[in-house]
Amino acid sequence: MPGRRRGADGAVPAGRPDDTRLVDRFGRVATDLRVSLTDRCNLRCSYCMPEEGLDWMTDDRLLSDDEIVRLITLAVTRLGVEEVRFTGGEPLLRKGLETIVAATTALRTHAGEVPQTALTTNGLGLERRAKALADAGLHRLNVSLDSLDRARFARITKRDRLPDVLTGLQAAAAAGLSPVKVNTVLLRGVNDDEAVPLLTWALEHGYELRFIEQMPLDPQGAWDREGMVTAEEILTALQTAYRLTPTGSAARGAAPAETWVVENPPAGAPAGARAPRVGVVASVTRPFCGDCDRTRLTADGQVRNCLFARGETDLRALLRGGAGDDEIAAVWRGDMWAKEAGHGIDDPSFLQPDRPMSAIGG
Ligand code: SAM
Ligand code: SF4
Ligand code: SF4
Repeated sequence: MPGRRRGADGAVPAGRPDDTRLVDRFGRVATDLRVSLTDRCNLRCSYCMPEEGLDWMTDDRLLSDDEIVRLITLAVTRLGVEEVRFTGGEPLLRKGLETIVAATTALRTHAGEVPQTALTTNGLGLERRAKALADAGLHRLNVSLDSLDRARFARITKRDRLPDVLTGLQAAAAAGLSPVKVNTVLLRGVNDDEAVPLLTWALEHGYELRFIEQMPLDPQGAWDREGMVTAEEILTALQTAYRLTPTGSAARGAAPAETWVVENPPAGAPAGARAPRVGVVASVTRPFCGDCDRTRLTADGQVRNCLFARGETDLRALLRGGAGDDEIAAVWRGDMWAKEAGHGIDDPSFLQPDRPMSAIGG
């Protein structure tokens, strides 16, 4: 279990308890909340989960739909959160997802706007749920897909489900959840020859592809820097087939992906509202921690101020202990105040977090 816990005893660490936002010691303000809805998954991507699965959280540890909505409401209406992304594990395994999305889009931010909502999913079951998610007001969608080769997809994920992911993607586009983004992790010697074919396929279908550098978050502890396919390598591969123009750092802001306009898309690519582009999330080789605007809520009610945080704050205990909104908000602000400057992967003393990615929420 994580080494450091705050808040379970109701203690508020020194911080900025009077602020109406989530501010840290380095002046960053968290406006983007990532909510993990479950630690379970129906795939077993090799870089994320062992084939036998993990020790899943028991039902009593999981927040109920009402508890999740209460914490999202508090984050949006009292702590300045403007965007909520639902993730997991696999968020489509959560029956109440549409209800939670609808409750979120019914809120208003400090600026009186509808909070932006997004979903990161492996796409299984999306075919049946895309329309209901769009009706609930979902704004954006990322579907993860690492290979277009069925046998290879099955080797990476341990499940022969590529056709279902592709159908899910089509259903999302048909439901108007566009632009549909596709997330890809390239693994050396496994699918690193698919950078160009994946981009060609994405451009032809009107999907926006983003490559994500593999991070040390696998429970097997198998990550190593040499094995990781870097952003540089990915760009070099893409440029063998495509002319890429950077959209510029100003366009990146706090967004993790650096993006490029593809100047020579394939002939059959649909004409979209904006020029086709591709993104690379260089979390390891070009970290963007200085602009980080995130706070995370795990499916068992722990707040984490960073993917790589070594500690977390127990909001579930506060919720179930009858704490009021003021108290919970103050504890959440205290958690954010304690955020480190960055992930420190390059630091010799770096330690992987105790939770794997699937239990944190990517
Ligand atoms: N199950 C959903 C999915 O796969 O989209 C949501 C959760 S998953 C943890 C979120 C994203 O994290 C996916 O795009 C996945 O590829 C990415 N991911 C998982 N483990 C990773 C790792 N070790 N390094 C980089 N990205 C990772
Ligand atoms: Fe499941 Fe997503 Fe992890 Fe793959 S990356 S095992 S789909 S949680
Ligand atoms: Fe933010 Fe932590 Fe990710 Fe850096 S590693 S961008 S600080 S969540």
